[in-house]
Amino acid sequence: MQSFKADLHTHTVLSPCGSLEMSPGRIIEKADKEGIDLLGITDHNSTLMCHVLDEVAAEHGITILPGAEVNTKEEVHCLTFFKDWKTLAAFQQYLEQHLIFIPNDPNRFGYQVVVDRDEQIVNEVNSLLIASLNQSLDEIAEEVHRLDGIFIPAHIDRPTNSITSQLGFIPDNLKADALEISKFTTLKAMKRLQPNVDVFSIIQSSDAHFIGNIGDTSCNFYMETPTFEEVKMALAGENGRKVTLV
Ligand SMILES: [Zn+2]
Ligand SMILES: [Zn+2]
Repeated sequence: MQSFKADLHTHTVLSPCGSLEMSPGRIIEKADKEGIDLLGITDHNSTLMCHVLDEVAAEHGITILPGAEVNTKEEVHCLTFFKDWKTLAAFQQYLEQHLIFIPNDPNRFGYQVVVDRDEQIVNEVNSLLIASLNQSLDEIAEEVHRLDGIFIPAHIDRPTNSITSQLGFIPDNLKADALEISKFTTLKAMKRLQPNVDVFSIIQSSDAHFIGNIGDTSCNFYMETPTFEEVKMALAGENGRKVTLV
């Protein structure tokens, strides 16, 4: 078993709030510098930058966990990850079908562009990606699991867009594979507020919107290889695999 450094919550230039410098080349360059083995690509309600990130990351021996940070009907942010391109494409369709359409105003919210590895714009998304889906947290969790994906409520300690800010508590029957705490808290502090958090595996990530933040928060996965299946096992604490906070 080996330890792999993971930052599973990274935005790219596609997220309206993501810096325009968050191009594939620059993201991977910084991730490499930080010694990251596993990088989650989690733009708001879109998976369209995952392919190019995977292509560039592979050249640096970094594994990409492709996914998205979904905004539920309750305005709860949740990280989602998928095992292959087929299920990722199916989830992208689901996102496009259920995202409530609000036209993006780039001057107000920021640009939503898909770029290639040479930083050329290949697509621009018009539907505001920080809007919410018309699907509940439970419905999205169910869809993610139907596609064999991983579902992780994001930054659960934050005063906005978190499961605790929107629902007030962590439901005992929550169908989550883990919970994410932000860099602004500790597990100890989180347990004081929500004693049932440690029913779940906990991850901590950077939620980077700027290059400088990539890898400033991470967690360690103990597992055989840096793959989706191993990550899933580590989150479930199966076969000696586990995830620990730094
Ligand atoms: Zn978020
Ligand atoms: Zn985020």
